[in-house]
Amino acid sequence: APYPISVSGTVVKGFGRGSKELGIPTANMNEEALEKMFEDFTTGVYYGWAQVGEKDTTVYPMVMSLGWNPYYNNEKRSAEVHILHEFESDFYDESIRIIVAGYIRPEQNYPSLDALICDIKTDIEVAKHSLKRKAYDDLRHDALFSAAG
Ligand code: ADP
Ligand code: MG
Repeated sequence: APYPISVSGTVVKGFGRGSKELGIPTANMNEEALEKMFEDFTTGVYYGWAQVGEKDTTVYPMVMSLGWNPYYNNEKRSAEVHILHEFESDFYDESIRIIVAGYIRPEQNYPSLDALICDIKTDIEVAKHSLKRKAYDDLRHDALFSAAG
């Protein structure tokens, strides 16, 4: 897929399987946004930027997992965005805008929860590192994000 790609949607309830308890809450995107993403992308883990709601104009770094969640044997596909920021409260039903800047890795089956968490921590480091590069950092100022506020 040609990056960057912008997607707008809303935050919906996920599978309630305890991402938050693992310390990595993931904002699940609505079905329409999924349609668009599954057309444009292969499954896997991506990095980019995200903005939530209509009041907070901050653009945060994020990692997104797109796929069928093999670890939990889900039958439904999902796009799950973990934003690298500590929010004071949940933001279900809020609007969410993301720019996908690049691909990190394919989906994988994990032998253990520890292995899964370890990979996610690596993904976060990769995202932080990559997003510092000027071409990616510039995406924070994309017109998609200035629409809010
Ligand atoms: P669900 O299964 O409903 O997606 P999660 O445990 O994955 O539940 O938690 C996701 C929710 O947590 C998001 O919808 C959002 O409202 C909230 N949240 C709080 N902080 C973050 C964050 N840093 N990144 C993503 N979602 C967050
Ligand atoms: Mg989730």
